[in-house]
Amino acid sequence: MSKKVPYRLYLTEDQMPKQWYNLRADMKEQPDPLLNPGTGKPLAEQDLYPIFCEELAHQEMDAETRYVDIPEEIREMYRIYRPSPLIRAYQLEKALDTPAKIYYKFEGNNTSGSHKLNSAIAQAYYAKAQGLAGLTTETGAGQWGTALAEACSYFNLPLTVFMVKGSYEQKPFRKAIIETFGAEVIPSPSNTTEAGRKILAENPGTTGSLGCAISEAVEKAVTSPNYRYVLGSVLNQVLLHQSVIGLEAKIAMDMLEEYPDIIIGCAGGGSNLGGLIAPYMQDKLLGKANPEIYAVEPASCPSLTRGRYAYDFCDTGKVTPLARMYTLGCGFIPSANHAGGLRYHGMSPILSKLYHDGYMKACSVEQTKVFEAAVFFAKNETILPAPESSHAIWKAIEEAKKCKETGEQKTILFGLTGTGYFDMTAYTSYLAQTMSDYIPTDEDLERAFAQLPKIPGIQ
Ligand SMILES: *Cc1c(COP(=O)(O)O)cnc(C)c1O
Repeated sequence: MSKKVPYRLYLTEDQMPKQWYNLRADMKEQPDPLLNPGTGKPLAEQDLYPIFCEELAHQEMDAETRYVDIPEEIREMYRIYRPSPLIRAYQLEKALDTPAKIYYKFEGNNTSGSHKLNSAIAQAYYAKAQGLAGLTTETGAGQWGTALAEACSYFNLPLTVFMVKGSYEQKPFRKAIIETFGAEVIPSPSNTTEAGRKILAENPGTTGSLGCAISEAVEKAVTSPNYRYVLGSVLNQVLLHQSVIGLEAKIAMDMLEEYPDIIIGCAGGGSNLGGLIAPYMQDKLLGKANPEIYAVEPASCPSLTRGRYAYDFCDTGKVTPLARMYTLGCGFIPSANHAGGLRYHGMSPILSKLYHDGYMKACSVEQTKVFEAAVFFAKNETILPAPESSHAIWKAIEEAKKCKETGEQKTILFGLTGTGYFDMTAYTSYLAQTMSDYIPTDEDLERAFAQLPKIPGIQ
């Protein structure tokens, strides 16, 4: 029998992790290397220096160092809003009348409203330490742009954010927060870059995508002296920083003498999921435990469940290195789905490899079902969840309902990545029943797959 569990468990400052955990150190088979799109040859760490600052390029390529010290300056800023609470969803359990025990790790307790601040702080810190003049980035739903603006303001670094046009128009207050922290915001695609002008010429009415915004941000970084580009998800370095979520969760669960049977996270580029599962995936890789792990993605942008495991560009404008990942094709522009943070064509190469090798599962869900779960959760747990996070809520509820049928008392842990205060347009459309579920057809996907890069000798 486990101990009586409080509603919210916070670690003390002393219990917070002092190191990040690098999942690659325990993977028997590594994700395939990044390739130079021109030569088809694997990239070396130095090849990344024009795009990323040196320490982050090192973290990107380092598959050996198991634990990486978190610099004190980063831990100082973490202490402002961490540890994040591990919450037992007693009211949700009661409402579902399920024997399952449901826990969630809540990352929405900071102004950015999501887990993204965990990596933004690290990336701004290393850029400052290298003496860079400034940073550029993209933002989809706006959480990453906000998080990075907070971090850059703290470390006193200029920042330009290319914001996906659809979100820019739908979420004017997101833009206002980013500007409050002193960053510049440009709607993407824009005519301030070559890549943006090209995308606009081909597709004038487009509301943009993360892939387009990445092309613009990379271009701006490489054409501005001593600027670098930073990315809020997908990359190995981001998964490393986000491991703080899973490490904290595991310390708290261990204190409660609990071990999850099922771990669930929403998956856009894979960073929150990769971070949450990190120490549990370690157990799985080392054969110590065998929790079921689920990535939940929107049916409108199903990279794991319907994508190809192939080398592809990380952006629409084809300016980035090639990564082998589950992808819908870098030319895939998803239909307007309100979970802006999940509208990315690819998936973290680390998670792609683990999924390909059978260490985790994936499922997809339509957005009306996601919002139904979101509202149900809000009414019972009093937190208004982000639409992205609500994909994980939906799956947790499904699993808890199965437990009710079978009588099994499974322990479920899911990541509640953020709050939905800037997503009220989406909530309003759900409540007015004007929200639709667009699922791409096989023909839509084939069109985008046809544009996957051809690499002699590889694919
Ligand atoms: C960005 C975001 C996500 C998705 O990104 P991942 O890198 O897949 O974690 C999920 N939830 C929220 C609240 C976000 O802001």
